[in-house]
Amino acid sequence: MQGLTMDYQLTLPAVLKRADQLFGRKEIVTRRPDKSFHRYTYADFVRRAKKLAVALGGLGLQKSDRVATLGWNTYQHLEAYFGVPSAGLVLHTLNPRLPADELAYIIDHAGDRVLLVDETMVRLLDGFRDKVNLEHVFVFTYSPEGEVPEGLRGYEELLQEADEGDFAYPDLDERDAAAMCYTSGTTGRPKGVLYSHRCICLHSLITSVAEAFGLSEADSVLPVVPMFHVNAWGIPFAATMHGAKQVFPGPHLDPQSLLEDFEQEKVTFTAGVPTVFLGILRELDRQPGRYDLSSLKAMGIGGSAAPEGMIRGFRERHGLTVLHAWGMTEMAPVGTAGHLTSDLLQEPEDVQYRYRAKQGIPLPFIEIRARGAEGLVPWDGRTMGELEVRGPTVASSYYEAPEAADKFTEDGWFRTGDIVTIDERGYIEIRDRDKDLVKSGGEWISSVELENALMGHPAVAEAAVIAVPHPKWQERPLAVVVLKEGESATPEELIQSIAPRFEKWQLPDAVEFVDEIPKTATGKFLKTRLREMFKDYQLA
Ligand code: ADP
Repeated sequence: MQGLTMDYQLTLPAVLKRADQLFGRKEIVTRRPDKSFHRYTYADFVRRAKKLAVALGGLGLQKSDRVATLGWNTYQHLEAYFGVPSAGLVLHTLNPRLPADELAYIIDHAGDRVLLVDETMVRLLDGFRDKVNLEHVFVFTYSPEGEVPEGLRGYEELLQEADEGDFAYPDLDERDAAAMCYTSGTTGRPKGVLYSHRCICLHSLITSVAEAFGLSEADSVLPVVPMFHVNAWGIPFAATMHGAKQVFPGPHLDPQSLLEDFEQEKVTFTAGVPTVFLGILRELDRQPGRYDLSSLKAMGIGGSAAPEGMIRGFRERHGLTVLHAWGMTEMAPVGTAGHLTSDLLQEPEDVQYRYRAKQGIPLPFIEIRARGAEGLVPWDGRTMGELEVRGPTVASSYYEAPEAADKFTEDGWFRTGDIVTIDERGYIEIRDRDKDLVKSGGEWISSVELENALMGHPAVAEAAVIAVPHPKWQERPLAVVVLKEGESATPEELIQSIAPRFEKWQLPDAVEFVDEIPKTATGKFLKTRLREMFKDYQLA
Protein backbone atom coordinates (compact mmCIF):
# COMPACT_ATOMS: atom_id res chain seq x y z
CA MET A 1 0.00 0.00 0.00
CA GLN A 2 1.36 3.43 -0.90
CA GLY A 3 0.97 6.51 1.23
CA LEU A 4 -1.72 8.98 0.29
CA THR A 5 0.31 12.19 0.10
CA MET A 6 0.79 14.55 -2.77
CA ASP A 7 3.55 14.14 -5.27
CA TYR A 8 4.47 17.80 -4.79
CA GLN A 9 7.59 18.69 -6.75
CA LEU A 10 10.54 20.17 -4.85
CA THR A 11 11.62 22.97 -7.19
CA LEU A 12 13.27 26.38 -6.96
CA PRO A 13 10.24 28.22 -8.35
CA ALA A 14 8.42 27.00 -5.24
CA VAL A 15 11.16 28.56 -3.08
CA LEU A 16 10.91 31.81 -5.02
CA LYS A 17 7.12 31.83 -4.66
CA ARG A 18 7.44 31.42 -0.90
CA ALA A 19 9.88 34.32 -0.70
CA ASP A 20 7.49 36.33 -2.87
CA GLN A 21 4.49 35.66 -0.64
CA LEU A 22 6.08 35.84 2.78
CA PHE A 23 9.28 37.86 2.90
CA GLY A 24 8.89 40.86 0.57
CA ARG A 25 9.99 43.30 3.28
CA LYS A 26 13.23 41.52 4.18
CA GLU A 27 16.53 43.06 3.17
CA ILE A 28 19.35 42.05 0.83
CA VAL A 29 22.58 44.03 1.13
CA THR A 30 25.58 44.01 -1.22
CA ARG A 31 29.00 45.65 -1.04
CA ARG A 32 29.61 47.28 -4.41
CA PRO A 33 33.13 47.35 -5.91
CA ASP A 34 33.47 51.00 -4.74
CA LYS A 35 32.73 49.74 -1.20
CA SER A 36 29.37 51.53 -0.95
CA PHE A 37 26.32 49.42 0.00
CA HIS A 38 23.49 48.47 -2.35
CA ARG A 39 20.29 47.69 -0.47
CA TYR A 40 16.97 46.39 -1.65
CA THR A 41 14.20 44.07 -0.48
CA TYR A 42 13.13 40.53 -1.27
CA ALA A 43 10.20 42.13 -3.16
CA ASP A 44 12.73 43.84 -5.47
CA PHE A 45 14.78 40.67 -5.75
CA VAL A 46 11.79 38.50 -6.68
CA ARG A 47 10.56 41.06 -9.22
CA ARG A 48 13.96 41.16 -10.90
CA ALA A 49 14.48 37.38 -10.79
CA LYS A 50 11.13 37.00 -12.55
CA LYS A 51 12.15 39.64 -15.13
CA LEU A 52 15.34 37.68 -15.74
CA ALA A 53 13.36 34.46 -16.27
CA VAL A 54 11.06 36.24 -18.74
CA ALA A 55 13.98 37.91 -20.56
CA LEU A 56 15.91 34.64 -20.89
CA GLY A 57 12.76 33.01 -22.25
CA GLY A 58 12.77 35.68 -24.95
CA LEU A 59 16.26 34.75 -26.17
CA GLY A 60 15.06 31.59 -27.85
CA LEU A 61 16.68 29.20 -25.36
CA GLN A 62 15.43 25.64 -25.03
CA LYS A 63 14.57 23.88 -21.78
CA SER A 64 17.71 22.98 -19.78
CA ASP A 65 20.01 25.22 -21.84
CA ARG A 66 22.94 26.46 -19.78
CA VAL A 67 23.28 30.06 -18.65
CA ALA A 68 26.70 30.76 -17.19
CA THR A 69 27.69 33.40 -14.65
CA LEU A 70 30.98 35.00 -13.72
CA GLY A 71 30.35 37.06 -10.64
CA TRP A 72 31.01 37.89 -7.00
CA ASN A 73 28.53 37.38 -4.21
CA THR A 74 26.01 40.06 -5.15
CA TYR A 75 22.29 40.69 -5.52
CA GLN A 76 22.48 40.25 -9.31
CA HIS A 77 24.07 36.84 -8.84
CA LEU A 78 21.24 35.92 -6.45
CA GLU A 79 18.75 36.96 -9.13
CA ALA A 80 20.49 34.57 -11.52
CA TYR A 81 20.44 31.81 -8.87
CA PHE A 82 16.64 31.92 -9.02
CA GLY A 83 15.80 33.54 -12.36
CA VAL A 84 17.73 31.02 -14.45
CA PRO A 85 16.32 27.79 -12.93
CA SER A 86 12.85 29.36 -12.74
CA ALA A 87 12.96 29.71 -16.52
CA GLY A 88 13.59 25.96 -16.79
CA LEU A 89 17.25 26.67 -17.62
CA VAL A 90 20.46 25.54 -15.90
CA LEU A 91 22.60 27.98 -13.91
CA HIS A 92 26.28 27.31 -14.55
CA THR A 93 28.52 29.25 -12.17
CA LEU A 94 32.05 29.75 -13.51
CA ASN A 95 35.06 30.31 -11.31
CA PRO A 96 36.79 33.56 -12.37
CA ARG A 97 40.02 32.46 -10.72
CA LEU A 98 40.54 29.62 -13.20
CA PRO A 99 42.99 30.05 -16.07
CA ALA A 100 41.38 31.17 -19.36
CA ASP A 101 42.04 27.84 -21.07
CA GLU A 102 40.26 25.94 -18.34
CA LEU A 103 37.31 28.35 -18.49
CA ALA A 104 37.14 27.85 -22.26
CA TYR A 105 37.15 24.08 -21.80
CA ILE A 106 34.41 24.21 -19.16
CA ILE A 107 32.16 26.63 -21.11
CA ASP A 108 32.53 24.52 -24.20
CA HIS A 109 31.99 21.21 -22.41
CA ALA A 110 28.90 22.51 -20.62
CA GLY A 111 27.54 24.00 -23.85
CA ASP A 112 26.85 27.40 -22.25
CA ARG A 113 24.77 29.66 -24.55
CA VAL A 114 24.50 32.78 -22.40
CA LEU A 115 26.95 34.43 -20.01
CA LEU A 116 26.14 36.96 -17.29
CA VAL A 117 29.37 38.64 -16.22
CA ASP A 118 30.21 41.11 -13.46
CA GLU A 119 31.52 44.46 -14.72
CA THR A 120 34.77 43.90 -12.79
CA MET A 121 35.37 40.58 -14.61
CA VAL A 122 34.68 41.61 -18.20
CA ARG A 123 38.37 41.60 -19.06
CA LEU A 124 38.42 37.81 -18.47
CA LEU A 125 36.40 37.48 -21.68
CA ASP A 126 39.51 38.33 -23.73
CA GLY A 127 41.05 35.03 -22.65
CA PHE A 128 38.28 32.74 -23.95
CA ARG A 129 35.64 34.60 -25.99
CA ASP A 130 36.97 33.47 -29.37
CA LYS A 131 37.35 29.86 -28.23
CA VAL A 132 33.71 29.29 -27.20
CA ASN A 133 30.23 29.60 -28.70
CA LEU A 134 28.54 32.05 -26.36
CA GLU A 135 25.55 33.59 -28.13
CA HIS A 136 24.79 36.32 -25.60
CA VAL A 137 26.84 38.14 -22.99
CA PHE A 138 25.22 40.54 -20.51
CA VAL A 139 27.12 42.64 -18.00
CA PHE A 140 26.08 42.98 -14.34
CA THR A 141 26.50 46.66 -13.48
CA TYR A 142 25.80 48.11 -10.04
CA SER A 143 23.29 50.70 -11.19
CA PRO A 144 20.93 51.03 -14.16
CA GLU A 145 23.23 53.73 -15.55
CA GLY A 146 26.38 51.63 -15.12
CA GLU A 147 28.68 51.69 -18.11
CA VAL A 148 28.70 48.63 -20.36
CA PRO A 149 31.83 48.01 -22.43
CA GLU A 150 31.41 48.35 -26.18
CA GLY A 151 30.15 45.32 -28.01
CA LEU A 152 28.38 43.91 -24.92
CA ARG A 153 24.87 44.38 -23.55
CA GLY A 154 23.87 45.40 -20.08
CA TYR A 155 22.02 43.09 -17.70
CA GLU A 156 19.94 46.08 -16.59
CA GLU A 157 18.87 46.68 -20.18
CA LEU A 158 17.92 43.00 -20.49
CA LEU A 159 15.74 43.29 -17.38
CA GLN A 160 14.19 46.59 -18.42
CA GLU A 161 12.81 45.06 -21.58
CA ALA A 162 11.11 42.23 -19.69
CA ASP A 163 7.70 42.44 -18.03
CA GLU A 164 7.52 40.36 -14.88
CA GLY A 165 3.74 40.31 -15.29
CA ASP A 166 4.42 37.75 -18.04
CA PHE A 167 6.08 35.39 -15.57
CA ALA A 168 4.19 32.25 -14.61
CA TYR A 169 5.66 29.83 -12.06
CA PRO A 170 6.56 26.90 -14.31
CA ASP A 171 5.61 23.31 -13.65
CA LEU A 172 8.98 21.64 -13.46
CA ASP A 173 9.88 18.09 -12.62
CA GLU A 174 11.93 18.07 -9.43
CA ARG A 175 14.46 15.88 -11.20
CA ASP A 176 15.07 18.54 -13.87
CA ALA A 177 18.54 20.05 -13.80
CA ALA A 178 18.72 23.43 -12.03
CA ALA A 179 22.42 24.20 -11.68
CA MET A 180 25.85 22.90 -12.50
CA CYS A 181 29.40 23.31 -11.17
CA TYR A 182 32.68 21.89 -12.35
CA THR A 183 35.13 20.34 -9.92
CA SER A 184 38.47 22.08 -9.84
CA GLY A 185 40.21 19.28 -11.68
CA THR A 186 43.25 18.99 -9.44
CA THR A 187 43.65 15.65 -11.20
CA GLY A 188 42.67 15.40 -14.86
CA ARG A 189 40.07 17.54 -16.61
CA PRO A 190 37.41 19.40 -14.61
CA LYS A 191 34.20 17.40 -14.34
CA GLY A 192 30.66 18.77 -14.31
CA VAL A 193 28.21 18.06 -11.48
CA LEU A 194 24.59 18.66 -12.38
CA TYR A 195 22.23 19.44 -9.49
CA SER A 196 18.51 18.78 -9.78
CA HIS A 197 15.86 21.07 -8.30
CA ARG A 198 15.12 18.34 -5.78
CA CYS A 199 18.79 18.14 -4.77
CA ILE A 200 19.03 21.89 -4.13
CA CYS A 201 15.72 22.02 -2.23
CA LEU A 202 16.66 19.08 -0.01
CA HIS A 203 20.15 20.49 0.51
CA SER A 204 18.59 23.79 1.64
CA LEU A 205 16.51 21.91 4.20
CA ILE A 206 19.14 19.55 5.52
CA THR A 207 21.79 22.25 5.90
CA SER A 208 19.32 24.44 7.80
CA VAL A 209 18.70 22.03 10.66
CA ALA A 210 19.88 23.06 14.10
CA GLU A 211 22.75 20.54 13.97
CA ALA A 212 24.06 22.23 10.82
CA PHE A 213 23.71 25.93 9.92
CA GLY A 214 20.52 26.33 11.98
CA LEU A 215 19.03 28.96 9.66
CA SER A 216 15.76 30.78 10.13
CA GLU A 217 13.96 33.96 9.12
CA ALA A 218 15.60 35.77 12.04
CA ASP A 219 19.11 35.28 10.67
CA SER A 220 21.38 37.68 8.86
CA VAL A 221 23.55 35.54 6.63
CA LEU A 222 26.82 36.44 4.93
CA PRO A 223 28.35 33.75 2.70
CA VAL A 224 32.06 34.50 2.29
CA VAL A 225 32.36 31.32 0.28
CA PRO A 226 31.92 32.49 -3.31
CA MET A 227 28.72 32.03 -5.27
CA PHE A 228 31.00 30.85 -8.08
CA HIS A 229 32.15 27.93 -5.94
CA VAL A 230 29.62 25.15 -5.28
CA ASN A 231 26.68 27.53 -4.93
CA ALA A 232 28.25 29.29 -1.94
CA TRP A 233 27.54 26.05 -0.05
CA GLY A 234 23.90 26.42 -1.03
CA ILE A 235 23.50 29.28 1.46
CA PRO A 236 21.75 31.71 -0.93
CA PHE A 237 19.19 29.02 -1.74
CA ALA A 238 18.64 28.10 1.92
CA ALA A 239 18.55 31.73 3.10
CA THR A 240 15.93 32.58 0.49
CA MET A 241 13.85 29.57 1.50
CA HIS A 242 13.74 30.93 5.06
CA GLY A 243 13.54 34.61 4.23
CA ALA A 244 16.73 35.41 6.16
CA LYS A 245 18.42 38.76 5.61
CA GLN A 246 21.22 38.24 3.08
CA VAL A 247 24.48 40.16 3.08
CA PHE A 248 26.82 39.85 0.10
CA PRO A 249 30.42 41.04 0.40
CA GLY A 250 30.92 41.59 -3.36
CA PRO A 251 34.63 41.59 -4.18
CA HIS A 252 35.66 42.71 -0.67
CA LEU A 253 36.89 39.55 1.04
CA ASP A 254 39.66 41.09 3.17
CA PRO A 255 39.32 40.65 6.96
CA GLN A 256 38.58 44.33 7.72
CA SER A 257 35.78 44.63 5.17
CA LEU A 258 34.22 41.36 6.31
CA LEU A 259 34.43 42.33 9.97
CA GLU A 260 32.82 45.70 9.19
CA ASP A 261 30.03 43.85 7.35
CA PHE A 262 29.54 41.43 10.27
CA GLU A 263 29.25 44.29 12.73
CA GLN A 264 27.20 46.72 10.69
CA GLU A 265 24.70 44.20 9.28
CA LYS A 266 24.46 42.25 12.54
CA VAL A 267 25.44 39.05 10.77
CA THR A 268 24.39 35.90 12.66
CA PHE A 269 25.86 33.23 10.37
CA THR A 270 28.76 33.30 7.96
CA ALA A 271 30.77 30.63 6.16
CA GLY A 272 33.99 30.20 4.24
CA VAL A 273 37.34 28.44 3.95
CA PRO A 274 39.95 28.35 6.74
CA THR A 275 42.38 30.69 4.99
CA VAL A 276 39.81 33.51 5.08
CA PHE A 277 39.05 32.88 8.73
CA LEU A 278 42.72 32.64 9.70
CA GLY A 279 42.99 36.19 8.35
CA ILE A 280 39.93 37.26 10.33
CA LEU A 281 41.35 35.73 13.51
CA ARG A 282 44.64 37.57 12.98
CA GLU A 283 42.77 40.85 12.55
CA LEU A 284 40.73 40.22 15.72
CA ASP A 285 43.90 39.38 17.64
CA ARG A 286 45.50 42.56 16.34
CA GLN A 287 42.61 44.72 17.51
CA PRO A 288 40.77 42.87 20.31
CA GLY A 289 37.42 44.45 21.12
CA ARG A 290 37.49 46.68 18.03
CA TYR A 291 34.47 44.96 16.41
CA ASP A 292 31.13 44.20 18.07
CA LEU A 293 30.38 40.66 16.90
CA SER A 294 27.77 39.88 19.54
CA SER A 295 25.22 38.93 16.85
CA LEU A 296 27.42 36.23 15.33
CA LYS A 297 26.12 32.80 16.41
CA ALA A 298 28.42 30.63 14.30
CA MET A 299 31.01 30.66 11.56
CA GLY A 300 30.76 27.67 9.24
CA ILE A 301 34.26 26.72 8.18
CA GLY A 302 35.19 24.01 5.68
CA GLY A 303 36.59 23.35 2.25
CA SER A 304 39.79 22.28 3.96
CA ALA A 305 40.47 21.36 7.57
CA ALA A 306 39.81 24.04 10.19
CA PRO A 307 42.83 23.76 12.52
CA GLU A 308 42.04 23.18 16.20
CA GLY A 309 44.29 26.13 17.10
CA MET A 310 42.05 28.44 15.08
CA ILE A 311 38.85 27.01 16.57
CA ARG A 312 40.27 27.50 20.07
CA GLY A 313 41.58 30.98 19.24
CA PHE A 314 38.16 32.20 18.11
CA ARG A 315 36.42 30.75 21.14
CA GLU A 316 38.90 31.46 23.91
CA ARG A 317 40.04 34.91 22.83
CA HIS A 318 36.91 36.25 21.11
CA GLY A 319 33.97 34.14 22.30
CA LEU A 320 33.16 33.04 18.74
CA THR A 321 31.99 29.59 17.70
CA VAL A 322 33.29 27.70 14.69
CA LEU A 323 31.07 25.08 13.07
CA HIS A 324 33.37 22.78 11.18
CA ALA A 325 31.78 21.30 8.06
CA TRP A 326 32.86 19.00 5.28
CA GLY A 327 31.63 18.61 1.75
CA MET A 328 32.47 18.56 -1.89
CA THR A 329 31.18 19.77 -5.24
CA GLU A 330 29.72 16.31 -5.77
CA MET A 331 27.58 16.75 -2.61
CA ALA A 332 25.92 20.09 -3.41
CA PRO A 333 28.22 20.54 -1.35
CA VAL A 334 27.72 20.04 2.42
CA GLY A 335 27.81 16.47 3.74
CA THR A 336 28.70 16.65 7.44
CA ALA A 337 28.69 19.27 10.19
CA GLY A 338 30.48 19.31 13.51
CA HIS A 339 28.04 20.41 16.21
CA LEU A 340 28.74 18.68 19.50
CA THR A 341 26.20 16.11 20.60
CA SER A 342 24.66 16.58 24.06
CA ASP A 343 26.89 13.94 25.68
CA LEU A 344 30.02 15.60 24.32
CA LEU A 345 28.98 18.87 25.93
CA GLN A 346 29.46 17.11 29.30
CA GLU A 347 33.04 16.20 28.45
CA PRO A 348 36.14 18.23 29.44
CA GLU A 349 37.04 21.16 27.17
CA ASP A 350 39.99 19.39 25.56
CA VAL A 351 37.78 16.54 24.42
CA GLN A 352 35.25 19.02 23.09
CA TYR A 353 37.89 20.85 21.07
CA ARG A 354 39.14 17.58 19.65
CA TYR A 355 35.60 16.94 18.40
CA ARG A 356 35.10 20.48 17.14
CA ALA A 357 38.18 19.96 14.96
CA LYS A 358 36.66 16.81 13.44
CA GLN A 359 34.44 17.30 10.41
CA GLY A 360 31.24 16.24 12.14
CA ILE A 361 28.44 13.78 11.60
CA PRO A 362 26.47 13.26 8.39
CA LEU A 363 23.44 15.45 7.71
CA PRO A 364 20.03 13.77 7.49
CA PHE A 365 19.74 11.35 4.55
CA ILE A 366 23.50 11.32 3.98
CA GLU A 367 24.99 7.88 4.56
CA ILE A 368 28.70 7.35 5.12
CA ARG A 369 31.10 4.42 5.20
CA ALA A 370 34.85 4.08 4.75
CA ARG A 371 36.78 1.44 2.85
CA GLY A 372 40.34 0.33 3.50
CA ALA A 373 42.50 -2.20 1.69
CA GLU A 374 40.64 -5.04 3.44
CA GLY A 375 37.11 -3.78 2.92
CA LEU A 376 34.87 -1.51 5.03
CA VAL A 377 36.66 -0.22 8.14
CA PRO A 378 35.21 -0.24 11.68
CA TRP A 379 33.90 2.97 13.23
CA ASP A 380 36.68 3.05 15.83
CA GLY A 381 38.15 6.52 15.23
CA ARG A 382 41.49 4.93 14.34
CA THR A 383 41.31 2.86 11.17
CA MET A 384 41.71 4.91 8.01
CA GLY A 385 39.74 4.29 4.84
CA GLU A 386 38.38 6.10 1.81
CA LEU A 387 35.07 7.77 2.58
CA GLU A 388 32.11 6.67 0.48
CA VAL A 389 28.76 8.48 0.61
CA ARG A 390 25.26 8.29 -0.74
CA GLY A 391 22.14 10.37 -0.41
CA PRO A 392 19.65 12.55 -2.31
CA THR A 393 22.13 15.44 -2.67
CA VAL A 394 25.06 13.34 -3.91
CA ALA A 395 25.99 13.20 -7.61
CA SER A 396 25.02 9.96 -9.33
CA SER A 397 27.46 10.53 -12.20
CA TYR A 398 29.35 13.38 -13.87
CA TYR A 399 28.00 15.36 -16.80
CA GLU A 400 29.11 13.66 -20.01
CA ALA A 401 32.19 12.09 -18.47
CA PRO A 402 31.86 8.32 -18.82
CA GLU A 403 35.59 7.99 -18.10
CA ALA A 404 34.91 8.95 -14.46
CA ALA A 405 32.54 6.05 -13.84
CA ASP A 406 35.06 4.49 -11.43
CA LYS A 407 34.27 7.25 -8.89
CA PHE A 408 31.07 5.32 -8.15
CA THR A 409 30.93 1.89 -6.56
CA GLU A 410 28.97 -0.97 -8.08
CA ASP A 411 26.36 -0.67 -5.34
CA GLY A 412 25.83 3.02 -6.04
CA TRP A 413 27.99 4.92 -3.53
CA PHE A 414 30.22 7.87 -4.45
CA ARG A 415 33.93 7.45 -3.73
CA THR A 416 35.08 10.77 -2.28
CA GLY A 417 38.86 10.28 -2.51
CA ASP A 418 39.07 11.51 1.09
CA ILE A 419 40.89 9.33 3.61
CA VAL A 420 39.03 9.38 6.92
CA THR A 421 38.46 7.73 10.23
CA ILE A 422 34.93 7.38 11.57
CA ASP A 423 34.47 7.12 15.34
CA GLU A 424 31.87 5.38 17.50
CA ARG A 425 29.60 8.43 17.42
CA GLY A 426 29.84 8.70 13.60
CA TYR A 427 32.09 11.78 13.58
CA ILE A 428 34.37 11.71 10.59
CA GLU A 429 37.87 13.03 10.62
CA ILE A 430 39.49 13.80 7.28
CA ARG A 431 43.01 12.53 7.57
CA ASP A 432 43.98 13.35 4.04
CA ARG A 433 43.08 13.31 0.40
CA ASP A 434 44.03 10.05 -1.17
CA LYS A 435 46.68 11.74 -3.30
CA ASP A 436 48.14 13.84 -0.45
CA LEU A 437 48.78 11.04 2.06
CA VAL A 438 52.44 10.49 2.83
CA LYS A 439 53.12 6.80 2.26
CA SER A 440 56.21 6.11 4.31
CA GLY A 441 57.49 2.54 4.22
CA GLY A 442 54.00 1.01 4.18
CA GLU A 443 52.64 3.35 6.89
CA TRP A 444 50.23 6.17 6.12
CA ILE A 445 51.04 9.60 7.52
CA SER A 446 48.32 12.21 7.47
CA SER A 447 49.62 15.50 6.07
CA VAL A 448 46.56 17.28 7.44
CA GLU A 449 47.24 16.30 11.05
CA LEU A 450 50.79 17.60 10.87
CA GLU A 451 49.59 20.83 9.25
CA ASN A 452 46.99 21.39 11.93
CA ALA A 453 49.51 20.79 14.68
CA LEU A 454 52.06 23.12 13.11
CA MET A 455 49.45 25.83 12.62
CA GLY A 456 48.80 25.65 16.34
CA HIS A 457 52.31 27.04 16.95
CA PRO A 458 52.14 30.75 17.80
CA ALA A 459 54.79 31.74 15.23
CA VAL A 460 53.21 29.87 12.32
CA ALA A 461 50.81 31.56 9.92
CA GLU A 462 50.40 28.68 7.47
CA ALA A 463 51.84 25.19 7.12
CA ALA A 464 51.49 22.64 4.34
CA VAL A 465 52.96 19.15 4.48
CA ILE A 466 53.86 17.20 1.35
CA ALA A 467 55.51 13.90 0.57
CA VAL A 468 59.01 14.08 -0.86
CA PRO A 469 60.80 11.06 -2.33
CA HIS A 470 63.02 9.09 0.05
CA PRO A 471 65.47 6.32 -0.96
CA LYS A 472 64.58 4.02 1.93
CA TRP A 473 61.01 4.92 2.94
CA GLN A 474 59.71 5.84 -0.55
CA GLU A 475 58.16 9.01 0.85
CA ARG A 476 58.75 11.21 3.87
CA PRO A 477 56.92 14.34 5.06
CA LEU A 478 58.32 17.81 4.41
CA ALA A 479 56.69 20.78 6.14
CA VAL A 480 56.50 24.04 4.20
CA VAL A 481 55.86 26.89 6.60
CA VAL A 482 54.99 30.59 6.44
CA LEU A 483 55.87 32.43 9.64
CA LYS A 484 53.72 35.22 11.02
CA GLU A 485 55.06 38.69 10.39
CA GLY A 486 57.70 39.60 12.97
CA GLU A 487 57.87 36.05 14.41
CA SER A 488 60.74 33.63 14.20
CA ALA A 489 61.26 29.91 14.83
CA THR A 490 63.76 27.27 13.79
CA PRO A 491 62.81 23.97 12.11
CA GLU A 492 63.91 22.13 15.26
CA GLU A 493 61.69 24.28 17.50
CA LEU A 494 58.68 23.66 15.31
CA ILE A 495 59.20 19.91 15.16
CA GLN A 496 59.83 19.75 18.91
CA SER A 497 56.63 21.68 19.59
CA ILE A 498 54.48 19.05 17.90
CA ALA A 499 56.54 15.98 18.83
CA PRO A 500 54.49 15.01 21.92
CA ARG A 501 51.39 14.51 19.75
CA PHE A 502 52.91 12.16 17.16
CA GLU A 503 54.92 8.97 16.87
CA LYS A 504 58.51 9.71 16.00
CA TRP A 505 58.21 8.25 12.47
CA GLN A 506 55.25 10.53 11.74
CA LEU A 507 57.15 13.77 12.27
CA PRO A 508 58.34 15.82 9.26
CA ASP A 509 61.94 15.14 8.29
CA ALA A 510 62.48 18.81 7.49
CA VAL A 511 60.88 22.24 7.56
CA GLU A 512 61.28 24.76 4.76
CA PHE A 513 60.26 28.40 5.23
CA VAL A 514 58.56 30.22 2.35
CA ASP A 515 56.89 33.64 1.95
CA GLU A 516 53.68 32.19 0.64
CA ILE A 517 52.03 28.83 0.05
CA PRO A 518 50.54 28.56 -3.45
CA LYS A 519 46.74 28.27 -3.34
CA THR A 520 44.05 26.91 -5.63
CA ALA A 521 41.37 29.08 -7.17
CA THR A 522 39.32 28.43 -4.03
CA GLY A 523 42.00 29.27 -1.49
CA LYS A 524 43.17 25.75 -0.63
CA PHE A 525 46.82 24.80 -0.50
CA LEU A 526 47.90 23.86 -4.00
CA LYS A 527 49.84 20.74 -3.15
CA THR A 528 50.47 19.79 -6.76
CA ARG A 529 52.48 23.04 -7.16
CA LEU A 530 54.29 22.49 -3.85
CA ARG A 531 55.23 18.95 -4.85
CA GLU A 532 56.52 20.32 -8.14
CA MET A 533 58.56 23.01 -6.28
CA PHE A 534 60.16 20.44 -3.97
CA LYS A 535 60.37 17.45 -6.29
CA ASP A 536 64.16 17.33 -6.20
CA TYR A 537 64.34 18.07 -2.48
CA GLN A 538 67.15 16.21 -0.79
CA LEU A 539 66.41 15.14 2.75
CA ALA A 540 69.51 15.33 4.92
P1 ADP B 1 38.40 20.92 -4.97
O1 ADP B 1 39.08 20.94 -3.64
O2 ADP B 1 38.95 19.88 -5.87
O3 ADP B 1 38.19 22.27 -5.52
P2 ADP B 1 35.86 20.73 -3.72
O4 ADP B 1 35.74 22.17 -3.58
O5 ADP B 1 34.68 19.95 -4.11
O6 ADP B 1 36.92 20.38 -4.77
O7 ADP B 1 36.53 20.21 -2.42
C1 ADP B 1 36.19 19.01 -1.82
C2 ADP B 1 37.31 18.51 -0.98
O8 ADP B 1 37.74 19.48 -0.04
C3 ADP B 1 36.95 17.32 -0.15
O9 ADP B 1 37.02 16.15 -0.91
C4 ADP B 1 37.98 17.37 0.95
O10 ADP B 1 39.20 16.78 0.55
C5 ADP B 1 38.21 18.84 1.13
N1 ADP B 1 37.46 19.33 2.29
C6 ADP B 1 36.27 19.93 2.30
N2 ADP B 1 35.92 20.28 3.55
C7 ADP B 1 36.92 19.87 4.37
C8 ADP B 1 37.15 19.93 5.78
N3 ADP B 1 36.30 20.50 6.61
N4 ADP B 1 38.28 19.39 6.25
C9 ADP B 1 39.18 18.81 5.42
N5 ADP B 1 39.02 18.73 4.09
C10 ADP B 1 37.91 19.26 3.56
